[in-house]
Amino acid sequence: MPSLDHVSFDVAVVGGGAAGIGAAIAAAKSGARTALIEAGPMFGGELLSGMSVDGVLNGRGEWVVRGVADEIFEECRQMDGFIGPLHDYRLICYVCCDPEVMKIAIARVLARHGVVPILYTQVTDVAVENGTVRSIVLTHKNRRTLLSAKHFVDASGDGDVAAMAGAPTEFSDETGELQPLSLMFRMSGVETGPFLDFVRDNPTSLAVGESEAVRAGRTDEELAQAIHAQGEPTVFFRGNGPFLGGAIQRGEMFPTALIMIMPTSKPRKEVCVNATRVAENISGLDAPGVSRVVATLMDQVWQTATFLKTRCPGFEGASFAGLAPRVGIRETRRVMGEYVLSGDEAASATKQKDVITKGAHHIDIHQGGIRQVRIAIADGGSYDIPFGCLIPKAVRNLLVAGRCISTDRVANGTTRMMGQCLGTGHAAGLAAAMCVEAGHDDVRALPVPALQARLRQQGAVLDGTH
Ligand SMILES: Cc1cc2nc3c(=O)[nH]c(=O)nc-3n(C[C@H](O)[C@H](O)[C@H](O)COP(=O)(O)OP(=O)(O)OC[C@H]3O[C@@H](n4cnc5c(N)ncnc54)[C@H](O)[C@@H]3O)c2cc1C
Repeated sequence: MPSLDHVSFDVAVVGGGAAGIGAAIAAAKSGARTALIEAGPMFGGELLSGMSVDGVLNGRGEWVVRGVADEIFEECRQMDGFIGPLHDYRLICYVCCDPEVMKIAIARVLARHGVVPILYTQVTDVAVENGTVRSIVLTHKNRRTLLSAKHFVDASGDGDVAAMAGAPTEFSDETGELQPLSLMFRMSGVETGPFLDFVRDNPTSLAVGESEAVRAGRTDEELAQAIHAQGEPTVFFRGNGPFLGGAIQRGEMFPTALIMIMPTSKPRKEVCVNATRVAENISGLDAPGVSRVVATLMDQVWQTATFLKTRCPGFEGASFAGLAPRVGIRETRRVMGEYVLSGDEAASATKQKDVITKGAHHIDIHQGGIRQVRIAIADGGSYDIPFGCLIPKAVRNLLVAGRCISTDRVANGTTRMMGQCLGTGHAAGLAAAMCVEAGHDDVRALPVPALQARLRQQGAVLDGTH
């Protein structure tokens, strides 16, 4: 075995999705020499799928995640790739961006802050000494590198680094259920006018007004009219409504809870479509298991595109415009930390003393067939995510961010949203840089009020919203 190259940084962030991007930008802009390591060929993770960025606003339209998230959105805006906050008149407001512009916007913001990019590289091992991560092994195509850092952020989505470092993790719950795998796709040449007329005229086919805060005394017809008036092709057709449910009964569509459509590009008249699913409790860590269902998901993509072109006004002349870069995995490990956020705390919009970012998306647990759990956040508001959710038990100089933070399975149904991944990433990256600055070996030594003060300075929202 040849000896390994050796590099060292102040902060190493593993995983270049929403959480890792948030963490790396925050660490670098706070003065830490920061590397961002990503297994794939490009940064972005699920941010490149074309889906709306959920959880940055609450159901009332108040921004609950800003700071680093704003920098990414602003870069997209300057490149004409920002469609802006939209309301789905079901439960949430979200931000839509062009995923092709997003690729470039992310790279530009990372470069501007001096983040050292390490792409095409998987972290495959971790060296731990008395609870301190000394180094991680980077596996590239032609060699391996040992990377040491003072502090690490695990933003791998799957909690890979935390698990390898010996932190406790959970997978599913006593049911053994895992959320389905799905593959997003896009269609271009969609005519918004006739599409929105169809939406307005078919309110019983839509999921609308699922919380009192959003419904605000309005009928389904009035909410469908509000989607029409908003003027953007954004809608959630429910699996048990006449339009989609009828297609499932006729065999034109496979059983699914939703066809969710959201805009990705005005110039291309393009939308992203979320409809496909394989619910066989396949672990997202099991590469052969995931590979086995890729063809099925692709068939479902084509079936959905054909259905929309045939049956949905506005899609008659539309073209298939591409697949998300990879199969979407909603649920794998949750890293158990110093605090475990519960679904009840999220749903009841609980505020906490140690808040480092907020969440606002409803609890969203997809299941097989037409089933999906959707639990609104009380009063259209937001809940707090405390710092302890980012601190894995049993490890001193590691923080987690993104999909794998410390929650129960129900809370994970909301904290997994990209808004919360950007927010927890921001907090983790800044906390890691502050630990480097102060010479703390253990992240637990960092005073939370000091972290909160710096987060506010960097534009994060910690209070003042429902
Ligand atoms: C089908 C589907 C639909 C969804 N719909 C929405 C939606 O509409 N809106 C919304 O906001 N959220 C949605 N979500 C949730 C959200 O997209 C994800 O939970 C979130 O993007 C996860 O962000 P992350 O940064 O934690 O992980 P990811 O985006 O998964 O990024 C992790 C990155 O780490 C890399 N990586 C992993 N392991 C290693 C390793 N060992 N070494 C190096 N690199 C590694 C991966 O390649 C990846 O790029 C959806 C998710 C899915 C799957």
